[in-house]
Amino acid sequence: MKLPFYMKGILLSCLFLNGCKQMPDLPPYVVLNDPKDAKSDVLRKLAEPLTFPLSREDREIVQILTTKFDSEENCAGLAAPQIGFSKQIIIFAVNDDPLLKKWRADLVQTMPKTLWINPNYEPIGKEKHTDYEACFSVDDLAGPVARFKTIRYSAYTPEGIRVEGTAKGFLARLIQHEIDHLKGRCFIDYVSEDELLPLEEYRQRRKNKMGS
Ligand SMILES: [Zn+2]
Repeated sequence: MKLPFYMKGILLSCLFLNGCKQMPDLPPYVVLNDPKDAKSDVLRKLAEPLTFPLSREDREIVQILTTKFDSEENCAGLAAPQIGFSKQIIIFAVNDDPLLKKWRADLVQTMPKTLWINPNYEPIGKEKHTDYEACFSVDDLAGPVARFKTIRYSAYTPEGIRVEGTAKGFLARLIQHEIDHLKGRCFIDYVSEDELLPLEEYRQRRKNKMGS
């Protein structure tokens, strides 16, 4: 999740940020709606679960995904298939950021940078909240997605320690978005075509709404 500096917190994506600092050796994003991207199948299949202790290859993928995440400014989350690895690994963070809170009114729970292996979730209750998302794996589009407001998650740390808990609001949205990538799903699957907006138009609308 990357956001323009003036819109930090609006998108679930790190797209188009002037401040993006791509590391030279990091793999590029696989993009679903780019007909030239021959690797986009990786985003449409169930990612492989990992076994513990992690193999050397899996440890390397963990490191690459972490470095990719760290190289983005204001990036909320990434999943391994987004950089071409069909593995059940996600990384994300929701920080206590006033600007992010301003734009994500449902940001009621934070979580420092977290890397999970083989994560899963199930909804608690049926209540959903609709908000806009975008994604590194979808070029130039944002759209409204209804997500469960509260989920119960479970996952493993890279050391193989099981973690579980409850996530609410924006954090729950982010976790659902990232775990979807491990199941071959993407936010555009939930959005009708006439609801999708070019990113710039979406940003402008949000900016106008912000009154700046
Ligand atoms: Zn995404």
